[in-house]
Amino acid sequence: MRLVKKISPAIENTSIDLFEDTIQNLDLALKYANIDPEAVEILKHPKAILQVSIPVRMDDGSLHVFEGYRVQHNDTRGPTKGGIRYHPNVNLSEIKALAFWMTCKCAVTGLPFGGAKGGVIVSPKDLSLLELERLSRGFIHEIADFIGPEIDIPAPDVYTNAMIMGWMMDEYSKIRRQRVPAVITGKPIPLGGSLGRDEATGRGVYYCVKELEKIRKWNPQKIRVAVQGFGNVGQAVAKLLHADGYKIVAVSDSKGGIYSDKGFDIPSLLYSKNETRQLKAIYCKGTVCEMVDADFISNEQLLELDVDLLIPAALENQITLRNVNQIQAPVIIEAANGPISSDAFEILYKKGTLTVPDILANAGGVTVSYFEWVQNKTGYYWPLEEIHQKLQTIMGREFHAVYRLKEEKQIDMRIAAYTHALTRIGEAIESQGTQKYFSRGMLQQ
Ligand code: GLU
Repeated sequence: MRLVKKISPAIENTSIDLFEDTIQNLDLALKYANIDPEAVEILKHPKAILQVSIPVRMDDGSLHVFEGYRVQHNDTRGPTKGGIRYHPNVNLSEIKALAFWMTCKCAVTGLPFGGAKGGVIVSPKDLSLLELERLSRGFIHEIADFIGPEIDIPAPDVYTNAMIMGWMMDEYSKIRRQRVPAVITGKPIPLGGSLGRDEATGRGVYYCVKELEKIRKWNPQKIRVAVQGFGNVGQAVAKLLHADGYKIVAVSDSKGGIYSDKGFDIPSLLYSKNETRQLKAIYCKGTVCEMVDADFISNEQLLELDVDLLIPAALENQITLRNVNQIQAPVIIEAANGPISSDAFEILYKKGTLTVPDILANAGGVTVSYFEWVQNKTGYYWPLEEIHQKLQTIMGREFHAVYRLKEEKQIDMRIAAYTHALTRIGEAIESQGTQKYFSRGMLQQ
């Protein structure tokens, strides 16, 4: 008998059922999308859900069994695509919502993919690197028959990185007894990863800011920005905005945040975070760093700051009915997945806040994942400049399509983005026939 002992049990981080909450957006979008309601019915149900147990031998010889999920939401527009997250709060409703958002994200950007997501209930910081490798290989072992380069293609997400993607690709290749780089994206460059994938999500958010800059005629030096979350996405977007002269006055990580009215030197913060694993208010010249004046703030306080642009780049459900009335920023870009709950979104819209939704704003990651998949399948690799330029073209084009829709229909940008996505998915579903088509009875030429 296998010893079953779980570490890092699931803790519901929210009372909101994320999946039920978010699929309501479909009914709202249907009013404007001019497609058959059958499409919405299909999208309200994930295509397939796999739950697995992953036994892992720990360094001290004991055995722990971790719980993991892979949800494929919809594959009408192509193989399903989406990351794998490692987090103690992973739960099935969350993974279903995240898979649904991937379907919408791929449709918003016009990528030939459906949506999926995976997650393992684990606190990865509590594991040694060897335990993490065994867990990652073990998860792939359990889901190997569920994924594939033409079926379902995973990628990094919260607390998973290029190294982990490399282990996963290697494990899958061993099972298939051939190298299959296109089964997973976000890999290390020497293992078939794409240039530019590591910062692609942050860069996509940055391109959205650049479009807003043109629309709102912003002078970057006058724009005060707060970034919640200083992981892969938050770091990349803060770095790019800072380089353009934006004033990053607040940043935070899971332990809390720092605020300075003068704005931070982001390369120095990156240095401190990456060298010491701590976010410190410092200014560095080369490797010589000194502390700078700053206030310590909580993540909650960061969200409520009086800034021009707020970028939540951490986890879902950060702005909800609980704190929405305290939010002051006139523009919010959802760099994380689902940081604003649907009801809070509506309140923000009513008070005039412009909110660029996650399924558009953070689509840069999956877009460069698509480039990686194409490069893996053709065996021909593109230079970084080409990746940046192709990403900018897609982000700019789709940003304007959504923005135009918002203006035309007088709706908020979230509903506009869902309408845009639903139109593309609906057209794909309709082209296989709906009740309207089949009730004609006979083939008409
Ligand atoms: N996890 C990322 C997201 O939520 C990237 C997914 C991918 O590259 O497939 O968009």
